[in-house]
Amino acid sequence: MSTFKTVAELVPCKEICHIYVQIIHLWKNYIAADRYTIELVLCDAFGDKIHASISSSLVAPYEQRLKQGLWTIFEKISVIQSGGAYRTSKHAYLIEFVCNTSVCVCDFLPRALTGFEPVAFRDIFDGLVNTKYLVDVIGQIVGVSHLEIVSLNGKDTEKITLELQNQLSDRLTVHLLGKYAIIVHDATQNVIHEKSIICVIRFGKIGLFKDSVSTAYGFTDVSLNPGMVEVEVFLNLVDKRDSQIALVASKPYCPIPELYGKFRFFKPIIQKSIIEVLETKQVKEMLYLTLFTDSTITLCLLDIQRERYIVMCTIAAIDYDMGWYYMSCKICWKRVLLVPSDHMVYGIQKSQIKKKYYCAKCNNYRPQLLPRYNLQLVVLDNTGHAKFLLLDNLAEELFGTSCGGYTIEDPVVVHSVLSKLIGGTYFCKIVIEEQNFLFNCQTFKVLEIIPTYEF
Ligand SMILES: [Zn+2]
Repeated sequence: MSTFKTVAELVPCKEICHIYVQIIHLWKNYIAADRYTIELVLCDAFGDKIHASISSSLVAPYEQRLKQGLWTIFEKISVIQSGGAYRTSKHAYLIEFVCNTSVCVCDFLPRALTGFEPVAFRDIFDGLVNTKYLVDVIGQIVGVSHLEIVSLNGKDTEKITLELQNQLSDRLTVHLLGKYAIIVHDATQNVIHEKSIICVIRFGKIGLFKDSVSTAYGFTDVSLNPGMVEVEVFLNLVDKRDSQIALVASKPYCPIPELYGKFRFFKPIIQKSIIEVLETKQVKEMLYLTLFTDSTITLCLLDIQRERYIVMCTIAAIDYDMGWYYMSCKICWKRVLLVPSDHMVYGIQKSQIKKKYYCAKCNNYRPQLLPRYNLQLVVLDNTGHAKFLLLDNLAEELFGTSCGGYTIEDPVVVHSVLSKLIGGTYFCKIVIEEQNFLFNCQTFKVLEIIPTYEF
């Protein structure tokens, strides 16, 4: 029987454990139009916080049951190293849900936790706060800019700049984006003169120059005069006569959401050189051979399936031997099979026989076809070379053209488009799959790719 653990006690280990926590923040992080992860910040009765994440493939059974403010028991969770520049807690680890994580919502509410830990403005200015951690701040709004529209990831987004003042009369610049910009703009337009507006920001991102705090998409929560003990205490400390809000100039800010994608890309993944990737593959092959008769083999395979690495490499060439595209079914997007034609005609060369395709998923012998990229890249770094497989969506993003977007039969046209990649240096997130170590496949699949010039 496993025991309850406190948040502070959580470390990566295989033991099953229970934790009893309140969900103090919950949001969806969209990774595609219809796919998202659920991100949570959990706080236990001792006030210790930890981040938790539910991957998009697992959200369905949990989505309806998890709500902000609920006290919950989680059982069978995976605890992994925390990292990146957007950490919601100081905990060294974070929780990942696995397929058998169980959730038990408790009726009994010991007390509502906020987990609110405001930092002093001066500590931010003096560089005493680690910018990798998101911060809470509280202050009185003493300045506000006009509402403006800025372009963010190609989308028009509302933005407003605020001046917050604390009890020591220090002032902090705050950039709000999206819905929070609108809420604060509306609230500051009709101010009753004697009433101060206290702004509480949870999980804000400290700016690049440690002179401001911005909203980080998804992470940050902003509220005005919320019913919190901390707000009452703060109101007693500030000069209430001074409730004027001045018009201030809008200031530029560090574009957070673009950086978020990059943070996700590197999240707890080790960077390896090409030679290290090839060595890891070899180790897996040996391990597989030695454990062939061992009953723990399935466990071992599970471990291997998760191995993903970031490799910084230059694309040296494209290998056309295996072709550069495959035919998929337009309906289900699955690869179609090439099947022999029903009637063979004598005197007709093999190349002239019309190819016949079959979609196994749709069980259709005449599927509508959609060509998709299937690029074998020869990549180099200063340790060696390897082959990476770049599939359709990733390639389409890099080229800006879908695979069917040009004459696919003309090799000259094809190469003139595809060769754009050659010579470029990229961060590739790759995976060592079963086929790599079971069937000695030398090509590693790319899961994500970002040009290094974006950093
Ligand atoms: Zn199909």
